[in-house]
Amino acid sequence: MSGADTADAAVPPAAPLPRNNLLHSGSPLGHAFVTPRTYLEQGRPTMPPRALTAADREQLDGLKTIRAFLKVRTSYDVLPLSFRLIIFDTALLVKKSLNILIQNGIVSAPLWDSKTSTFAGLLTTSDYINVIQYYWQNPEQLARIDQFRLSSLRDIERSLGVSPIETISVHPERPLYEACRKMLESRARRIPIVDIDDETRRTTVVSVITQYRLLKFIAVNVKETQMLRKPLKDLSVGTYKDLATAYMDTPVMDVIHMLVKKSISSVPILDKDGSGTVLNVFEAVDIITLIKGGIYDELNLSVGDALLKRSDDFPGIYTCSMQDQLSTIYDTIRRSRVHRFIVIDEHRKLQGVLTLSDILEYTLLEGEENE
Ligand code: AMP
Repeated sequence: MSGADTADAAVPPAAPLPRNNLLHSGSPLGHAFVTPRTYLEQGRPTMPPRALTAADREQLDGLKTIRAFLKVRTSYDVLPLSFRLIIFDTALLVKKSLNILIQNGIVSAPLWDSKTSTFAGLLTTSDYINVIQYYWQNPEQLARIDQFRLSSLRDIERSLGVSPIETISVHPERPLYEACRKMLESRARRIPIVDIDDETRRTTVVSVITQYRLLKFIAVNVKETQMLRKPLKDLSVGTYKDLATAYMDTPVMDVIHMLVKKSISSVPILDKDGSGTVLNVFEAVDIITLIKGGIYDELNLSVGDALLKRSDDFPGIYTCSMQDQLSTIYDTIRRSRVHRFIVIDEHRKLQGVLTLSDILEYTLLEGEENE
């Protein structure tokens, strides 16, 4: 392990890759994969016992070192020396909250209830998606949309029967491993770090750790990520079956329904010629740009038109092949702000999706039962 402690230490500025950057191209392989989600719900699948190869052992040793590292570091260690934190008062209008997110280039914020002086959960893109769904189901309410405050989100979520705003959190001095486990168990993609002030006994939101920040912290500090040399085709990481996809002419609203139904944060956009070629990816965060200023009409757009509204500094789509190794994936995470890899073959045909949730889950759970 290197001595660098903060996620931003020793890392050159992320070099944005072109829109459809191909990291590598590999050959298409017909391996059957298990969705990592099933691991947590039903326990890890039991593989038939077989002798471990040297590559298996090296991979497991690498994972073990990463987990040992996470157990001796705290959430506090992940925070950079200087950072800003934007917290929303629950009395803020939903419409204003959107503008603040966009102006500050962020996609989530902790909520603060100033009446009770308590942390009121984390506001994420899922909450905006819930608002959209609510108006889709109750168009007669649309006239009132401008008066909605963040505090009303809970009522909306209750009426939709969806899970309410995430309220899990972690104490800054608890092991980082605990934050990771909590994220996995709640399927949250970020977790607030919440402390209790010694004098006032009040809660203080210190920061928010995202999956990206966590994995980058690992990539920067644990050189044993280089031991993760087995190709994706030989691992159970990522999703390769029943992928939710759309075309450029699919209405954005249909894609939003897919995101909610499958609890996913992106949908690959394929060529309509039936070749399965990946043209782009629609991300849950793209919705924020669409509904800024409260113009919910934009949701009638097609995916293709919606993607044209992306800002010019959009970092691009990251792809990889089934031949890639997690060591390369961790290298890319160290260098660039990436949220998912679209797995393609040499013809850019969609093979699967490897997201930060998958990488975190694999890193934490693979072979753990034998430790
Ligand atoms: P995410 O929320 O994007 O991290 O994804 C959560 C889980 O859903 C991960 O196991 C992904 O591999 C899987 N997943 C992500 N996008 C899709 C998709 N478009 N279709 C099917 N599964 C997906």
